[in-house]
Amino acid sequence: MATIMTRSLPAWPGSAAVLADHPLAPLTTFGVGGSADHFAAPESTPDLIALLDAAHAAAIPITVLGEGSNVLIGDAGIRGLTIHNRVVTLEAIPANAVRAGSGVLMGRLAAWSAERGLAGLEFGVGIPGSLGGSVFGNAGCFGVEIKDVLIETNIWHDGAQSRLSNAELVFAYRHSALQALSGTPVVLDAILQAVPDGSEAIRARMTELSRQRRTTQPANPSAGSVFRNPPDDHAGRLIEAAGLKGTRCGNAQISDRHANFITNRGGATAADVAALIHRARAAVADQFNIQLETEIRFIGEGFGASP
Ligand SMILES: Cc1cc2nc3c(=O)[nH]c(=O)nc-3n(C[C@H](O)[C@H](O)[C@H](O)COP(=O)(O)OP(=O)(O)OC[C@H]3O[C@@H](n4cnc5c(N)ncnc54)[C@H](O)[C@@H]3O)c2cc1C
Repeated sequence: MATIMTRSLPAWPGSAAVLADHPLAPLTTFGVGGSADHFAAPESTPDLIALLDAAHAAAIPITVLGEGSNVLIGDAGIRGLTIHNRVVTLEAIPANAVRAGSGVLMGRLAAWSAERGLAGLEFGVGIPGSLGGSVFGNAGCFGVEIKDVLIETNIWHDGAQSRLSNAELVFAYRHSALQALSGTPVVLDAILQAVPDGSEAIRARMTELSRQRRTTQPANPSAGSVFRNPPDDHAGRLIEAAGLKGTRCGNAQISDRHANFITNRGGATAADVAALIHRARAAVADQFNIQLETEIRFIGEGFGASP
């Protein structure tokens, strides 16, 4: 689809190619969504910062994507520059800590740390996302969240860089202070605290955690849990109790295995997924007087009639 930019484009700096009208669905775990007007996949922090600075200076909207495992991208795609973060540096630093680039996959972070006898990051095997996306949303599973291991992070925000401590990120359930900032705050890297342990013991725990995941989650493409759990309850339980398990809209389906997952059965659109989200939220509000909030982030344009 041809797109029209209303602002003149900067001469993009750095070594990452900037592509026009680039498809984004393959870069998400849902496999849904349109194209980016402009797209780059920087592999180094200087390239990432140079792109952010250039877009900011030209007042071009910026969207950052990690592994695309917690987003629903609209069928009409994303205006401005979309950055697919490929900064995957890893470094062991004193006092059993790890400094990682924000594009590192959480599972890779766990495996790399295990090889070095660094424990505590095993929960990463359950999160098919990047470190940056996980800091943004305080991702967690198996009783551990990013907030439990993060010491500090470097971020870019509105053309300036700063270092934020764990306390400054004001982490809560699937929340960080980054979500409340205007503009596009971007996690550049983070330092995580590990504890020493034997590599074999750590790997054994990771294998067991992965096995648990496989037995409870649907295999079809999804973006994980669609809704945050309301206080003292589970969104999946409520959606199932509302009788919606297995409900389909086009090629999207409320999973018949875990009702807080919506799966793409092949060829689903963002409008299909959004319609199911709308339906689940309305049914739970009607029947239980509980307002469900989405955990997944809606990005871009084109969600049909049910945003
Ligand atoms: C099968 C499956 C199981 C899952 N299980 C879990 C689970 O157990 N626990 C859990 O917490 N999550 C889970 N998720 C959701 C998802 O993996 C996490 O939310 C993950 O942290 C998202 O990371 P990402 O890189 O994919 O982010 P993306 O989906 O790419 O982006 C999500 C949001 O983070 C922002 N973002 C991405 N990178 C950065 C950055 N560098 N700086 C600032 N903002 C950024 C994006 O702009 C967007 O708003 C699951 C997903 C799937 C598909």
